[in-house]
Amino acid sequence: MRAMAVFPAQRELRIIDVPAPELRNEHQVAIRIREVGICGTDREICEFHYGSPPAGTDRLVLGHEVLGEVVGVGPAVRTVARGDLVVITVRRPCDDPECVACRAGRQDFCTTGHFRERGIKGADGFMTELVIEDERYVVRVPKALSEVAVLLEPLSVAAKAAVDLDAILRRYPWEPTALRALVLGAGPIGLLAAMALRARDTETFVYSLEPADSDRGDLVRSLGATYVSARDVPVGEIASRVGAPDIVFEAVGVAKVAFEAIGELARNGISILSGVPGPGGPVEIDLNSIMRNIVLKNQVVFGTVNASRSAFEESVAYLERFMVLFPDSVRRLITQRSKLDDAPALLQRGGGIKHVIQLSS
Ligand SMILES: [Zn+2]
Ligand SMILES: [Zn+2]
Repeated sequence: MRAMAVFPAQRELRIIDVPAPELRNEHQVAIRIREVGICGTDREICEFHYGSPPAGTDRLVLGHEVLGEVVGVGPAVRTVARGDLVVITVRRPCDDPECVACRAGRQDFCTTGHFRERGIKGADGFMTELVIEDERYVVRVPKALSEVAVLLEPLSVAAKAAVDLDAILRRYPWEPTALRALVLGAGPIGLLAAMALRARDTETFVYSLEPADSDRGDLVRSLGATYVSARDVPVGEIASRVGAPDIVFEAVGVAKVAFEAIGELARNGISILSGVPGPGGPVEIDLNSIMRNIVLKNQVVFGTVNASRSAFEESVAYLERFMVLFPDSVRRLITQRSKLDDAPALLQRGGGIKHVIQLSS
């Protein structure tokens, strides 16, 4: 069967032939891959900044944002059955018996850093025809979500952040209502986070580079959120021009923007960082005033990476809600569906919101 592989040592990217995998134990599930989304992480791997092949091989099969159909199950599998649509979680636990996070199935909080991630770090991904996976990493998806379910993995980033956000909001001695949120970046994660905030009935602003009259601006407004273009409002004027946000969800991966926006937070505000900056030198920024604010205004800044099985399950609930509230907006996140043969070209250039490789239907 065919698979999209990257060869980091040779700095090559090509479609290869690999043997079809088979069920090897009673807890495994065979999944025919339908769709795989492409994201910034895949593109960084294809620029050889990031990503590592499984031990003993020189190539990594790409792809971690997946939708598939169960085509076979081991005799002990209970949670999915042949014909079910499923998504597969990305991170696999480390082997360290002392890692309480991994031993509890919460490898998103792995304490050793020796986890593996399918399609990213030390384990093959899903941009191929058939995948075998342990049942515990396979999450069932309602058939009604089939046309947009490939968005569940990027949505799980926002779903996990929302759980941590709610834990922090509980520190207030009052019920936090009427919160104002600012999302930085109108890429897939930023837009999905904006949808999650709107589904929670939070007043939401999305701040991004595109002009106010762009498609992204329209998409944001279709959610009942307000679009703010960086062309019209500098980051340092956000609080004075549109109001100080109680929550910032950062999804641009640019440190200067992320930290300047922390300076715009309201009293008791919370800033969530989800973007990963590329390699680059030091950035000049007034950290004294940012730190003074964080302390004197009781602010919280936290990072979030990867997601647990429970976050994927919550993503399913969010996506069902999105398809009631703004179904056309969700569909607009998927820019284009392409064949596997087009994957090498799509992995090397950006553009659009979410490109999806279709492997079967
Ligand atoms: Zn991704
Ligand atoms: Zn671990």
